[in-house]
Amino acid sequence: MAFSVRATSSNLARNVVSKTRFSSSLASKHSQGVVGKKVNNASVPFRFQSASSRRSSVVTVQAAADGPVCVVTGASRGIGAAIATQLGAQGCRVVVNYAASAGPAEEVCKTIKASGGDAIAVQANVAKQEEVDALFKAAVDAFGEVNVLVNNAGITRDTLMMRMKLAQWQEVIDLNLTGVFLCTQAATKIMGKKKPVKGRIINITSVVGVTGNAGQANYSAAKAGVIGLTKTVAREYAGRNIQCNAIAPGFIASDMTAELGPEIEAKILTTIPAGKYGQPEDIAGMVRFLALDPAAAYITGQTIHVDGGMVM
Ligand code: NDP
Repeated sequence: MAFSVRATSSNLARNVVSKTRFSSSLASKHSQGVVGKKVNNASVPFRFQSASSRRSSVVTVQAAADGPVCVVTGASRGIGAAIATQLGAQGCRVVVNYAASAGPAEEVCKTIKASGGDAIAVQANVAKQEEVDALFKAAVDAFGEVNVLVNNAGITRDTLMMRMKLAQWQEVIDLNLTGVFLCTQAATKIMGKKKPVKGRIINITSVVGVTGNAGQANYSAAKAGVIGLTKTVAREYAGRNIQCNAIAPGFIASDMTAELGPEIEAKILTTIPAGKYGQPEDIAGMVRFLALDPAAAYITGQTIHVDGGMVM
């Protein structure tokens, strides 16, 4: 399954063509000054010569983003923000979900719009069913459909097993695992309504969901659960043209890993064959491939490690 992905804004910005090369309907819409689609702040400016002014001037017209609708949970910061930004730069219409960081989420939307995509920021705690329902309602109200879901929102509440309170266990399971279940159920219902059915779901798990990690009983259990859930969703929906895959990042520079402190960071670095931390963009690149690339259409149920060789 391939989603049609628009040219990026930089391509469009270079797109200077004669009006005579446009289809007649597009040309007549152009005579009103815009390509006949919704024009808003997210519109991508591109330029072509009008018939009447072919010799000298250039007319600026606007094309609204019309790429796949992508819901990215936890997209106000870190890996989620990089994912939303990269999808937006491909002309996607992105729902930037956040829990508390309204300002940063709006900044992500601005960046997306400036690069040729469209975006809305939606506050929702994705561990709560009613808030998940409201998130997906907002997505459909704004963009009419959902084509891609990226389950990225996640937290840590690290401590050794013997000290872990039930509340610390539960909080992490509720967001990092139950949140993925709730969003996946909501997204697949919407994906199933539009014929022909198609969709892509990408779950951000972790290498510790495969290896375990001292101090992360809650987190590693949730991330291992996400891998199992990914395989089940892949099996249930493969025949309906919805692919579901997981990405297992290693250690990626973000607010989450900044909490670890220099001593633990240095220790971790010795376990990474690549000899460096990954960047949020490394994960975003793999999401972009799995979410949008036609070559990913036959990949489902997989967990792809993006970890500098940490787990192999
Ligand atoms: P950050 O802590 O930098 O960002 C977390 C994001 O999740 C924020 O956008 C935050 O929103 C959002 N969020 C938190 N709670 C909720 C909630 N209840 N509902 C909706 N959104 C919420 O995390 P990272 O970017 O580092 O991690 C992103 C994902 O990648 C997580 O699933 C994490 O487990 C996984 N991962 C990260 C690794 C790393 O090395 N960084 C390694 C392996 C996996 P707000 O800003 O509003 O609080």
